Amino acid sequence: MGNFFHQISVIYSSYWNYLLKELTNPFNNGGSYFYLLIAISLIAWSLEIIVPWRKNQAIFRKDFWIDVFYMFFNFFIFNLLIFIVLSSLTAKYFQTFMQFIHLPKSGIFDLSNLSLWIQFPVYFLLADFVQWVIHVSLHKNKFLWKFHKIHHSVTEMGFAAHLRYHWIETLVYKTGMYIVLAWLLNFKLEHVFILHAFTILIGHLNHTNIALDYGIFKYVLNNPKMHIWHHAKKIPENLPFGMNFGITLSLWDYLFKTAYVPHDGKDIELGFDKIETFPRGFFAQFVNPFKKEKTK
Ligand SMILES: [Zn+2]
Ligand SMILES: [Zn+2]
Repeated sequence: MGNFFHQISVIYSSYWNYLLKELTNPFNNGGSYFYLLIAISLIAWSLEIIVPWRKNQAIFRKDFWIDVFYMFFNFFIFNLLIFIVLSSLTAKYFQTFMQFIHLPKSGIFDLSNLSLWIQFPVYFLLADFVQWVIHVSLHKNKFLWKFHKIHHSVTEMGFAAHLRYHWIETLVYKTGMYIVLAWLLNFKLEHVFILHAFTILIGHLNHTNIALDYGIFKYVLNNPKMHIWHHAKKIPENLPFGMNFGITLSLWDYLFKTAYVPHDGKDIELGFDKIETFPRGFFAQFVNPFKKEKTK
């Protein structure tokens, strides 16, 4: 038990040092996520102000501040309080368990010896695909949908909506990615700054109030004109679980026939059925998925 608490304190103190470095030195170790998030947010927000898609949408749109809070909570506070410890310890115990049942600790198909030029694109494609599969599951599985509903409770779209999601989603995504990318393939690229920076930029832009679809590249790259349909309240009959599940790439939706951009989605209604009864505050949304559903 002493060992367990020692491990936790080591993890926290190293994370604390990391966070301090992040705040005090923007260009430390190639870049600071804290300043990156602020910089990308400011770029996206400026675009919303200078070239808005929905011109009548307020600069401080509905739920703006709650989304800004979600952004920092999911990115830093949740990481600081729970996730770092959970993931470090779980990875350790997961590996011990795998050894116990005579499976390798990691790298069943070890790709870590390939040239970085091959590892980077393969990792990027696979990581995005794994997340696409998880996102589809968040919609198809009733239990997971309770958590994912929070992301879909946005009724006015703006850049900060990107990181409005329940912290359980982080656990689901990271577990899936850990199993496939770290355990199965032994990739060690999880902390590559440039990859993260790119995915945060595209993710923010997907939610930004601008009329952007990257022209011909829209078939590869997810974009605001496509992602808004993912948030549509009305879902087409042939796609009962939803559409446009892409994270950074739109490619998977075109490949697996879940892409849906019937017309310009500028003013479509967002949300889901009975959204009027969905809680609006951070804490109420935090506990909502754990509550028993009212049977009526
Ligand atoms: Zn979704
Ligand atoms: Zn979204």
